[in-house]
This record gives sequence, C-alpha cells and structure tokens, in this order.
Amino acid sequence: MNIVLMGLPGAGKGTQADKIIEKYAIPHISTGDMFRAAIKDGTELGLKAKSFMDQGQLVPDEVTIGIVRERLSQADCEKGFLLDGFPRTVPQAEALDSILVELGKSIEHTINVEVEKDELVARLSGRRICKVCGTSYHVVFNPPKEDGKCDKDGGELYTRADDNPETVSNRLEVNMNQAQPLLDFYQAKGVLSNINGQQDIDKVFADLDALLQGSRS
Ligand code: AMP
Repeated sequence: MNIVLMGLPGAGKGTQADKIIEKYAIPHISTGDMFRAAIKDGTELGLKAKSFMDQGQLVPDEVTIGIVRERLSQADCEKGFLLDGFPRTVPQAEALDSILVELGKSIEHTINVEVEKDELVARLSGRRICKVCGTSYHVVFNPPKEDGKCDKDGGELYTRADDNPETVSNRLEVNMNQAQPLLDFYQAKGVLSNINGQQDIDKVFADLDALLQGSRS
C-alpha cells in the first residue's frame, strides 16, 4: 500500500500517520522528521535544511527531492510506504511521479486531511513533542497523562522551534499558498480524497481506514 498523506501543519497528519503505519506495517517517510534527524546528527543535510526550517520556509526542492528518491529506493519500501509532508509543491509532485516511474511504483491513495486555519493556529501553539520518540501531544486537545512527559517512554516534551507564535503564522501562510496548487494538481488527476480532520482523533482514523480499505464510513 503506497500512500501520500497531505494536510497543513497541525492537521494531525503525524498522529494519523502513526496509526496507519502501525496497522498496515509500512514505513513512515516524513521529510520533516528526516530533516530534524539530520539537524540533530549534525549532517550536511541538516546544515542545509536548518536555516530554512527555523524561518518556517520550505527546504529547496533539489535537496528535498533527493532525499525522498534515496529513501523510496530502500528495500523496506517494497511492501509499501506512507509519505508525510512530501510532496508539498507541484514541482515536488511532478518529481515524485518521475521517481515512481523510475522505481516501477505507483501511489494508491492520495489523501488530504482538512482542518480550518483558526483551528490549526490553536493546535500548533499547544503542540508538544517527545524528545525521545517524537510522539506529538497537545496541551489541551491531546495531553499526556503526566504533564511534560511522554506516555510511551517518559521522555521530556518540548515545543518545536518552528511552532513558536511568530513562526506558526508564517509557516501556515507559506504552506497554504503552496498547498492549494498541489491539491488542484491531484484533484485534476482525479486521485484526491479529502478527510475531515476536525473530528476526534479516532474518528479521523476510522474515516482514513475505511478509505484505505476501499470504502468510506
Ligand atoms: P513538517 O514536520 O512536515 O511540518 O516539516 C517541518 C519543516 O521541514 C517545514 O516547515 C520545512 O521547512 C521542512 N520540510 C518538510 N518537508 C518538506 C518538503 N516536502 N519540502 C520542503 N521543505 C520541507
């Protein structure tokens, strides 16, 4: 099962991606996570990505497309994959089409998780991430059992640098401007499915799962 999962920052993509990969046992390919890991490890890729990320801007396409090509070529993607946060622009979507042709693969589901802007701002400013495993929480909507600690491994929760109030608004603007042409691109191809992300986390997953299994709930 090859899936592209789209949605603006804060739409709940990461949370839903975790549930999908667990159920369908496929790798989660998140370009944001790959960049964050590279920054943490101090690699050349991390150095290239950091200044863009810190300002809430997109990392240049040539960098991003290269890491996705390399990742999709790896053996664990044979059984399927879930792309999260890529493509984000029409040139990236076109590049993805070429990569898939090269690799003899295709996407079965192109899914957009829809959430209104006001709700996204509220969600992002309350988001907290586990330093150890990367699990997302929200101080109000999805709090951990113990304040400031991850339910899974007790790791300390932190606020992502690009979730600070000044960056959130810029990041959302950048993403909204980029997202619409991308959605139009997939809509025109007739492959786009929209899921209502403004529901309870489990209900969003039930809708996604029904879609992946070929029927809508
Ligand atoms: P995310 O975790 O998906 O919200 O991504 C965090 C940041 O990583 C973004 O704001 C961008 O700076 C960068 N990034 C992630 N995915 C992409 C992409 N497909 N194209 C360009 N930049 C990206």
